[in-house]
Amino acid sequence: MSKSPDSESRMEKIVSLAKRRGFIFQSSEIYGGIGGFWDYGPLGAELKRNLRDTWWRTMTRDREDVVGLDATIIMHPAIWKASGHVDTFADLMRECTITNKRVRADHVDPQSGTVYKFVGAFPSKILFDLDLAPSLPPEFWARWLSRFALTEGKQLLHIKNLLSEGLISQHQEPLNDKLLTKEADKIHDSILWMECTVLVPAGKPIESAQKIANEFYQSRGIVNARLIESKYSGEKVEKSVDFHPETGGLLNEARPFNLMLKTYIGPTATENDIAYLRPETAQAIFAQFKNVCDSSRVKVPFGIGQIGKAFRNEVTPKNFTFRSREFEQMELEFFIKPDEAVQLIHGSVAVWSEGADLSEPQPNWGWEMWHRYWVGERTAYYAGIGLSSEVLDYTWQTKADLAHYARACVDILFKFPFGTEELEGIAARGSFDLTQHQTHSGKQLEYFDEELKAACDKLTAEQKSTFIAEAYAKRFNPDTTLEETMAFCEKLFKGLYIPHVIEPSAGLDRLALAILANSFEEEVVTDEKGKSEMRTVLHFHPRIAPIKVGIFPLLKNKPELVAKAREIVSLLRPHMAVFYDETGAIGRRYRRQDEAGTPFGVTIDFDTLGEEKPEFKNTVTLRERDSMQQRRIPIAELLPFLLSQIL
Ligand code: ATP
Repeated sequence: MSKSPDSESRMEKIVSLAKRRGFIFQSSEIYGGIGGFWDYGPLGAELKRNLRDTWWRTMTRDREDVVGLDATIIMHPAIWKASGHVDTFADLMRECTITNKRVRADHVDPQSGTVYKFVGAFPSKILFDLDLAPSLPPEFWARWLSRFALTEGKQLLHIKNLLSEGLISQHQEPLNDKLLTKEADKIHDSILWMECTVLVPAGKPIESAQKIANEFYQSRGIVNARLIESKYSGEKVEKSVDFHPETGGLLNEARPFNLMLKTYIGPTATENDIAYLRPETAQAIFAQFKNVCDSSRVKVPFGIGQIGKAFRNEVTPKNFTFRSREFEQMELEFFIKPDEAVQLIHGSVAVWSEGADLSEPQPNWGWEMWHRYWVGERTAYYAGIGLSSEVLDYTWQTKADLAHYARACVDILFKFPFGTEELEGIAARGSFDLTQHQTHSGKQLEYFDEELKAACDKLTAEQKSTFIAEAYAKRFNPDTTLEETMAFCEKLFKGLYIPHVIEPSAGLDRLALAILANSFEEEVVTDEKGKSEMRTVLHFHPRIAPIKVGIFPLLKNKPELVAKAREIVSLLRPHMAVFYDETGAIGRRYRRQDEAGTPFGVTIDFDTLGEEKPEFKNTVTLRERDSMQQRRIPIAELLPFLLSQIL
């Protein structure tokens, strides 16, 4: 998606506000930063924590059918072999042949311009060593040689011809062949034959290509380089994806690059000690599935949720925190009965159709209803923290795009200033993951379903045969054999199966960025005196706002006002994040909190003390950030009101 200047400047403003107000800082900034890593400052840490809490509450605590897990970042490397990450968790990557900068093959923006191609370079000083013709200075030879582009191959012969032609052009005697070869050899031997191909955008001169090429050869030891341009230099290209978007350097062939970050366990640091920082949190859930089942009395359908760090050695981290190398995921694995088990228990499987009632899970739901249900639940979650349907979008993967084991996958997208991009993926993954871990670990990960066993015990042999025939006819994977179907059904008749899974997998950092982008607004406001000014405001939903309320004594030099304000701080602080501010004009204090996204402000003034209007005693001014409306509220009502807004 192309970016408009407006959306670019909006993004710049968000990044700048994020730093200025302490939401997000570049990691290791005082050392120049480190690409793809970000730190959350005081406000960012609160925002992230609030988002994390809303997810945890909605997805686990508020539900009877989901439990939590908090697993390690480093796990047995066999887990990543079983999950397929060791072999296939890779992006296609291309490398700039000039700078070695890498870019994801599918992230190369098309570019147009002129392609300058240099085949090599030699150090200028070699020209001083030539015995050719003392009357022709090195500068002549430098210019003369640079007039001729070299074709690849037969370089020595070409240099000889050049030298000879150079002498003739200056009415000098050509040297004899032996001497000419000696001189040409000197030059030839000093040439670094290395290609440097660079695209220069239309309108820019060849000098900018030469500058890059000079740096390229210089960094490879050729001091004061004389460039040798190829005969094929100067070609015009349109919308080429073969050049690095930043450097203009030619990209090499795409090759897979595994995104897992490696480390070593123990002091020997050999190949056998390699371990990986988890690239997703989900696999720990599968690996601990049996322990959770055995220890928690959960019954399928049920889910295991986890929030935690994940690491991916992204080739091109970009768009602020959107694509980072270290980030946090919030993942749920929701285990369901295979459709065949639902059929055996209930006689039929509810399949989804437009308008289906998804409000309450039903025992006869198959994977499709569950999948749609979770899309609905997750959409409702986003609405509950301020991301309405207008700012979200959905991409349903086509059958051709789906992994071989997946039934369906939908991405929930957010309209970021830099484009509409993925916030969360919700996949129906069949029984793939648990089956893989069962195979690789050799441990039984089947689930015993009493209800299924009881239903199957009532079936006659004939009914079972009919069921097998039907299951075979309806098999998901056409490669599944009749024998495999029979074995699967025989297990079902005993009440055993490997649960299928629906996986809503969201990124916490992407969510925080979406929330920042969605909340950011600059508006012109006019005060009572008619003075206009720009107000920067973050319209965070009170539930996720880092600070819930700002407390302001009208004047800091009035001890009674300050004491009352401090009293209110003590009243509210055990329940929420509050910020006490007594410096500056009250309007400026409001603006500071608007920019931090604080939804409410409480001002303690002389009326609070009841000095002139006794009826206002122990009331305060409550200011609402979005409407900027102010009203008086008794201090006694403050806590219940604020709690009703933030929970
Ligand atoms: P993408 O296609 O954008 O690389 P993905 O499809 O590989 O993402 P998943 O493996 O489905 O992502 O991970 C689930 C969620 O984790 C994503 O929806 C996203 O919110 C988050 N996520 C994945 N990679 C990153 C990253 N590099 N930086 C920040 N968040 C990420």
